[in-house]
Amino acid sequence: MRRAVCPGSFDPVTLGHLDIIGRASLLYDEVVVAVGVNASKKRLFSFEERTEMLREVTAGYGNVTVDSFDGLIVDFCRQREVQVIVKGLRAISDFDYELQMAQMNHGLAGIETMFMTTNPLYSFLSSSLVKEVATYGGDVAGLVPEAVHRRLLERLPAPRPLAQP
Ligand code: ADP
Repeated sequence: MRRAVCPGSFDPVTLGHLDIIGRASLLYDEVVVAVGVNASKKRLFSFEERTEMLREVTAGYGNVTVDSFDGLIVDFCRQREVQVIVKGLRAISDFDYELQMAQMNHGLAGIETMFMTTNPLYSFLSSSLVKEVATYGGDVAGLVPEAVHRRLLERLPAPRPLAQP
């Protein structure tokens, strides 16, 4: 059984994430989406909400499950018998950090990292940009799954119109 993990914070899951998860699900017997718990970081959505949205949007994939990790991803891999970490690479700016992580994870536990190039439709897309644009009332409907879009609209107050002079 070839198992892969797609780790991240998914605050919230975007169509860029989903594209990588879907493509990984065609390559591996099982794909575990691992949501980082890391309580110290400030998030828009709670861990439970992020997990719930992921479960909802990956429900159509028969071999994708959603789980959590707290601590080192290589420990999660060892416990769950996952052999491969799958990461999406958007631009050269992702590369430096991802290379360090991949080499560290291989050194720590012999876990391989496979990089998948992003779908060019989503190469500019990140959760933080989606939140920023949505905060100011920008349209992010084509960038996140419908269920996430709904929650973003609920969570973020509508921007106030500019005061008239
Ligand atoms: P983190 O907060 O740990 O950086 P994210 O939840 O933002 O995690 O993203 C998790 C992973 O998903 C990234 O490391 C990257 O591999 C992948 N990813 C994120 N956005 C995209 C995108 N637009 N296209 C392809 N891969 C992406």
